[in-house]
Amino acid sequence: MKIGIIGAGQLGRMLALAGYPLALQFRFLDSSPDSPGAQVAPIITGAFDDPDSLRRLAAEVDLVTYEFENVPVAALEAVAKSRTCHPPAEALRVSQDRLLEKEMFGRLGIPTPPFRAVDSLADLRAAVAAIGLPSVLKTRRLGYDGRGQRYLRKRGDVEAAWHALGGVPLILEGFVDFDREVSIVGARSTRGETRAYPLVDNTHRDGILRVTVAPVRSARLQQAAECHFARVLDHFGYAGVLTIEFFVQRGRLVANEMAPRVHNSGHWTIEGAATSQFENHLRAILGLPLGETRAVGHSAMVNYIGTMPDRNRVLGLPGAHHHDYGKAPRPGRKLGHCTVVAPTAAERDRITRKLLRVAAR
Ligand code: AMP
Repeated sequence: MKIGIIGAGQLGRMLALAGYPLALQFRFLDSSPDSPGAQVAPIITGAFDDPDSLRRLAAEVDLVTYEFENVPVAALEAVAKSRTCHPPAEALRVSQDRLLEKEMFGRLGIPTPPFRAVDSLADLRAAVAAIGLPSVLKTRRLGYDGRGQRYLRKRGDVEAAWHALGGVPLILEGFVDFDREVSIVGARSTRGETRAYPLVDNTHRDGILRVTVAPVRSARLQQAAECHFARVLDHFGYAGVLTIEFFVQRGRLVANEMAPRVHNSGHWTIEGAATSQFENHLRAILGLPLGETRAVGHSAMVNYIGTMPDRNRVLGLPGAHHHDYGKAPRPGRKLGHCTVVAPTAAERDRITRKLLRVAAR
């Protein structure tokens, strides 16, 4: 069985690595021939919306999936005419537009921050009047890792934010003074079997995920997150791994966004859960039984951003699992990660503090 993956970044590489024990083979499509995926499987070099490259990918594989959210929906729909594709193109379409995403959450009864579509400075003024300050102005499309966002704290920020981002469709969201950020990662198989991992706690800096701690021990939040998660999966008739990120505000979940793919906040599952998110994504799209999602200890995942740490020092830490994506260093770029797995939360936190010191050098 050969699986085509659109996008050959680190997520694609980890998908392929998880698939080899299941005797799966892989082909990637990516515009860059030296993407991380190229280290582990052949890569078709071409743009995501190049009809010839897409046809070649479809012709060479049995099933297509994607690891990248900004794949053009039309390209996925074109591939889906000749090859089965999971997750569904509709989930991709909604996830690419923050407005559609929040409207969908609302229709499914999942709380979100207050929001308004903004297409002009007059819209922005009206939205600020309705939502109030502080608030966050975001591009509706192609925003990730905090890009395409401006915080509005006072009236005087309104015009500057409009000039920085205006000209493309925008959304204004109320600022959520959250206690913490959490996410739920889980899978639904083509047979309708669903499993969710324990909720995890995410810390961002400059809009980029830095640290994920797993699991969050709150039966109440877990139950609420799983309920929201199941609604979204059922809504799309979904197959594959899905992630939903939430703010926790005064003990209540407020949805921020979803990703129809394996997710950075699920990397800890490689060593820290009974089955990794990558293996479960493959099981889900192949209609195989899903693997158990329980945590096998207490984990923390630290992203390496911009520079790689000294590998010797990381590997000297007990329970540390080092992942180097083989990417060229660049400020703000995710180059690798490390997951610490320990028998107790206290031990995990102790080793993670050391890891953060090593990673900061
Ligand atoms: P996003 O790209 O929407 O995931 O935003 C990146 C990060 O910016 C989030 O993880 C939050 O830390 C912060 N953020 C985004 N939207 C809001 C909001 N409405 N209120 C407060 N913080 C936000």
